Amino acid sequence: MRYLPSLLFVVALGAQAQTDEFARCLDGLRPAARAASVSEPTWRTHTEALQPDMGVVANLDAQPEFKTPIWDYLAFLVDEERVTDGSARLQAHAEVLQRVQQRYGVDPATVVAVWGVESNYGQGFGRTPIVRSLATLSCFGRRQTYFRTELFAALRILQAGHFAPERFTGSWAGAFGQTQFMPSNFERLAVDFDADGRADLFDSAADALASTAHFLQRAGWRPQLPWGFEVKLPAGFSVAGEGRRSKRPSAEWRARGVRLADGSPVPEDLSLGLLTPAGVQGPAFLVTRNFDAIYSYNAAESYGLAIAHLADRLRGGGPFTTPWPTDDTGLSRAERRELQAWLIVNGHHDIGTIDGLLGEKTRAAVRAEQQRLGWAPDGRAGQKLLQALRAR
Ligand code: CA
Repeated sequence: MRYLPSLLFVVALGAQAQTDEFARCLDGLRPAARAASVSEPTWRTHTEALQPDMGVVANLDAQPEFKTPIWDYLAFLVDEERVTDGSARLQAHAEVLQRVQQRYGVDPATVVAVWGVESNYGQGFGRTPIVRSLATLSCFGRRQTYFRTELFAALRILQAGHFAPERFTGSWAGAFGQTQFMPSNFERLAVDFDADGRADLFDSAADALASTAHFLQRAGWRPQLPWGFEVKLPAGFSVAGEGRRSKRPSAEWRARGVRLADGSPVPEDLSLGLLTPAGVQGPAFLVTRNFDAIYSYNAAESYGLAIAHLADRLRGGGPFTTPWPTDDTGLSRAERRELQAWLIVNGHHDIGTIDGLLGEKTRAAVRAEQQRLGWAPDGRAGQKLLQALRAR
């Protein structure tokens, strides 16, 4: 106990040192902000008395696109609920989506899939203050140069009066609106598609959908070109050196014995790269430059696959033919909610609301249940744990 006061002192000093470092860093950014057309009053209004949010720095190294097994990531993002909801959105917004396709060449299912993954079709798009996040990421952690550019863009957006400052919230990394645009992309590509005088990615689905199609068009999207296909590789196929960027002509893949998942030949005259996100034992995909356009929206192949697969499902396609190489596949949102309900039944009353999101408290309860079952307590919830809780 006698060490506690000095320990608290050290912790407080650490936080104070961080705040001081943040203030020094922001002060050092003033000239660059000025050069980027952020006025002195704008800079003062939005950065004075700003405290860093160190939580967003921790997020930099814990992004689900990279940390989660792909079968968990896709089970959550492309579940029956999102397919059903997306089909309803395709109907409800059919007229706008058709005009978007005419103008930008991107089909309705792809645009709606981005909408579904980015904000669950406009139902939740982040409440983190954007300027605070971007200012923190401009001064701490990796990629500070990138986040500085985005911080200056965010401040120019506020300076131009596009959004009220209190409304200007988004994801921890500064993306905002129904299809999660970064500030620089908003400045470059946002569209006032409903022609009410302003590009509004928060309250106008038409503006958000058109802006997304505009982004994909500029990222090299080709009308009528599929994103790619699930394929079957012949036994003993070597994937060494293959990847999204190593594009080869259809004829070459055909000659090497690759076929579509249903056994039909790979379509001719395409330039295709091979994706094997879980190794040769799992599903394999040949992808076109349209997959690359989706990738540029959020640079993770698992993200690209989630959008591409959800779009296929919205067009009436089925699940992948080849199963993931695991005996414990991931949970849909409905199954995650059921898991949370069982955790509460089993005495874990502190996990919060049943929301299908597996946060810290849910994961702690999952670890406790895994321990009770004599399993390795890794905090991951899959079908096996759900079944075990159902059976109890
Ligand atoms: Ca508008």
